[in-house]
Amino acid sequence: MVVKQIKLSKMAIFCYLIGDEKTRTCALIDPAFETDRILAVAKSAGLRVTHIINTHCHADHIAGNAAVKSATRADICIHQDDAGRLGAMANSAMARIFGGRGSPKADVLLKNGDTIAIGNTALEVIHTPGHTPGGICLYHDGHLFTGDTLFVGAVGRTDLPGGSLEQLLTSIREKIFTLPAATVVWPGHDYGPRPSSTVDYEKRTNPYTR
Ligand SMILES: [Zn+2]
Ligand SMILES: [Zn+2]
Repeated sequence: MVVKQIKLSKMAIFCYLIGDEKTRTCALIDPAFETDRILAVAKSAGLRVTHIINTHCHADHIAGNAAVKSATRADICIHQDDAGRLGAMANSAMARIFGGRGSPKADVLLKNGDTIAIGNTALEVIHTPGHTPGGICLYHDGHLFTGDTLFVGAVGRTDLPGGSLEQLLTSIREKIFTLPAATVVWPGHDYGPRPSSTVDYEKRTNPYTR
């Protein structure tokens, strides 16, 4: 599996490219802004984009869906509990403020335990509600992409519609902190002292989950 962390210039967003070497295909997780730059990363790696995966429905993660979809015809994948808000008016307005657009409808509705096949690489969907009702993390082979559920040294906010701190902490404790200790944590924003972490390190030091 190829992993590329791409830091975008707005909101300290991290977009991720997950590539499968054998089939030369890839997924983009939260390609929110600067989609030309993101698509150039895929192209220069020789990878064709087959999936757009949103960790959740917030505008700062989905504002690039329309541009990437029209350039690649990739399938837009999001958890079924967040799919309804993808094209919602308020979300589209916010996406435009960020310089993007509202998202086309989802092509694939996800639920806990589903796998998304990027060529021969199977990404596992872990439903981690709390930041939003349909927030997900994605896991493959010691790598976990946590969206706005878990950051390096922090957790996602829970004061937005559909948020719940109790649910978020339960998601983190039961579904993330139970993964192998060495699992690399790849967050959705660069809010911490380092751009990535591990399950073990966050378990021991993250002040919000104690
Ligand atoms: Zn969010
Ligand atoms: Zn966010």
